[in-house]
Amino acid sequence: MMWEFFKFYLPTRVLYGPGLSKRIAEELRPYLKGNYRVLLLTDPFLVKNGTIDSIRQSLQGSQLEIAAIFHDIPPNSELSVVEKATQLGVESKCNFIMAIGGGSVMDTAKVVNILMVKGGDIHQHMGAQLIEGRVLLPSLFIPTTAGTGSEVTEFAVILDSQNKVKLPFTEEAILPDFAILDPQLTVSMPPKLTAATGMDALTHAIESFVSNQANPVSSSLAIYAVELIHANILQACAVPDDLEARGAMLVASFLAGVAFNHAGVGIVHAMSHALGGVYGIPHGVANSIMLPLGMEYNLESSAHRYARLAEAIGVLNLKPAGELAKLSAHLPPLHSLLQNLSFVDEWLALQKAQYFIQYIRQLNQRLKGLAGLPTNLREAGIEDGLGRLDEVVQKAMDDGAHLYNPRPADAQEIRKMIRRAYEEEWPAIPTGKAEIKAAKLHAEKRRPKNVFKDEQMLYDILLGFFEKLKEHPEIGPKLHATGLSVRFNYANPDSSIAIDGRGPEVVFFKGEEARKFQAQVEMSMQADFAHYFWHGKANLLQALARREVIAKGDVPSVMRLLPILEPAYDLYPRYLRERGLHKIIVD
Ligand code: NAD
Repeated sequence: MMWEFFKFYLPTRVLYGPGLSKRIAEELRPYLKGNYRVLLLTDPFLVKNGTIDSIRQSLQGSQLEIAAIFHDIPPNSELSVVEKATQLGVESKCNFIMAIGGGSVMDTAKVVNILMVKGGDIHQHMGAQLIEGRVLLPSLFIPTTAGTGSEVTEFAVILDSQNKVKLPFTEEAILPDFAILDPQLTVSMPPKLTAATGMDALTHAIESFVSNQANPVSSSLAIYAVELIHANILQACAVPDDLEARGAMLVASFLAGVAFNHAGVGIVHAMSHALGGVYGIPHGVANSIMLPLGMEYNLESSAHRYARLAEAIGVLNLKPAGELAKLSAHLPPLHSLLQNLSFVDEWLALQKAQYFIQYIRQLNQRLKGLAGLPTNLREAGIEDGLGRLDEVVQKAMDDGAHLYNPRPADAQEIRKMIRRAYEEEWPAIPTGKAEIKAAKLHAEKRRPKNVFKDEQMLYDILLGFFEKLKEHPEIGPKLHATGLSVRFNYANPDSSIAIDGRGPEVVFFKGEEARKFQAQVEMSMQADFAHYFWHGKANLLQALARREVIAKGDVPSVMRLLPILEPAYDLYPRYLRERGLHKIIVD
C-alpha cells in the first residue's frame, strides 16, 4: 500500500508502571526545569478514596508544589466548571496543570489550561488549531479510567448544558507534556465503569483502524489495542484487582488514544456525542451500544479492515453464542466454508467482518452479564420514547467525528441506527471462568520493603553472600578474573560495601573503609533494590534508565558481569533459606 501523506507527532512523555503515581517527583525530576505551583484538577470520588491525598503527600517538598486543588469536576464536565477551575488557577498563581481522573477531568484540565493562558470567553477558543506552538502551561495527566486516552489526544469535549451540546476543542497545544499510566489507580473502578470505559477504548481503536485517515502508525497501535482489550476486558470486570488485566487495559486505552489522535474516529462517535449531549448518556456506554450498529453501517466500505481485526484476535475460532449460535447451527463450520471458497476474496472478507461484528455484540452481551453494561438506549436511561430523536440526528450530522468515517454519514441511516439502538433487545450472555482466559487473581506481587533493618543486618547478609560467591567454584574465579573494583552505596539503611578484585585475592570492605575506597565503578541504589537484584528480580538496565541505580565510572565492565552472575540468582534465596531468613525471600 502507498500512503500519499501522513504525519506522526506526540510531545507527551508517557511513563507506565504500577505504583508510579506515588513517585511522580522522582520520575519527572530529570525533565522539570524549575519549581512549579500546581493546579490539581480531579473529581470528588478520587478525593474520597484517598488517591489525591496520597499523591499530594508524595509531592511534599518537591518541585511540584500543589498550590490549589479543584475537585468538583462531574462526569460530562461543563462550561461553568471550566470557568470556576480557571478562576482558582489564576487566583492561586498556578503555572502547572495536573489532571488526575477520567476523561471528564482531563478534558476540563485541557480547556482550563487554554483559558488560564489565553484568557477571554470560552467560546472564543472553540475550534481547531487556533493556538500556535507549545505556549500553554506545562501539564501532567494521570488517567484513572481506561478509557478515553485523553492523556495523549489533542481533543477536549465540554458540555454546554444550556444548549445541550458537547463543544469540541482541538489543539495540538493541549497535548500534555507528561502522562503517567499507573494501573493501580484504575483498580477502584466498579465493573460497569470498567466495561463502559473499556468499550470506549475499543471504539477508538476500531474506528481509527477503519478511518479514511488511518495511517501505518495509527493502524499498528489500533490493532494491538484491539488485541489487548479482547484479551483483558472480561477479566478486568470479573477480577477488578487483577493488575495485569488493568495494566493491559490502560495501555490499550493509551494506544487507542494515540491512534485516534492521528486517524480520527467515526460515525459511532458522532452518534454517541449527540446522545451524550441530548440525553446525558455516559460516553463509553453510548459508544458500546452504537458500535456494532456503526460497524454494520460501514461494512460495505470496511469489510477487509474488520476482517483484519477478526484475524488479529482469532475471533474466527470463537464459539458463537446467543443468536449467532442459533443461526450458525444451520451452517457448516466457518473454517470449512473458508477452505472451500477461499478464492472468493471479497466474500471471505465479508464473512470474517460479519463474525467480528457479532463478536462485538456478544462482547457487549457478556459485559451486560458480568458488569451490568446496558445494551440498548432504554437501559442506558432514555425514558421519553426517544422524543428528541430529531435533535440527536441533527447533532450527530453536525458532529465533526463522521468526517473520518469511511462511508459518508446519512441522516436517514443515523435515524434508523438510533432507533434500533433504542428498540432492540440484547440479553446478557453468561460468562463463566472458562470464557475469561486465565481468570486467576494476579493481585500485585507484594515485595517486602525495607528488608535490611540496619547497617549491621545488611553487612551480615550481603557480605555473607559475597563471601559465598567468592568461594563458589564456578562464579568466584570468573569474577576474580575480571579484576574489577566496585563500590556499592546503599540507602535505607545507609551503608557501603566495596569489592576489590585487583589483587591476588578478592577483598571486601564495609562502612567507612568502603566509603574511602577508590573503586573503578561506584553504584548507588536503595538497599531493597540490591535484595531484589540478587533474587534475579530487578532489571539493572531498566533501573539505570530510570535512575533507580546511579552508576559512575567504568559501567560497561559491570554490565559484562551480568552473565557471570546469572547462577547467583538461584544461590541467593537458597543462602537466605539456609540461614533461616525465609521471611525476606521474594517469591
Ligand atoms: P469520567 O471522567 O466522566 O468519569 C466517570 C465516573 O467515573 C466519575 O463519576 C468518576 O468519579 C469515576 N471514576 C473515575 N476514575 C475512577 C476510578 N479509578 N475508580 C472509580 N471511579 C472512578 O469517565 P470517562 O469515561 O473517563 O470520561 C468521559 C469523558 O471523556 C466524556 O466527557 C467524553 O466526551 C470525554 N472523552 C474525551 C476524549 C478525548 O480525547 N479528549 C476521548 C473520549 C472521551
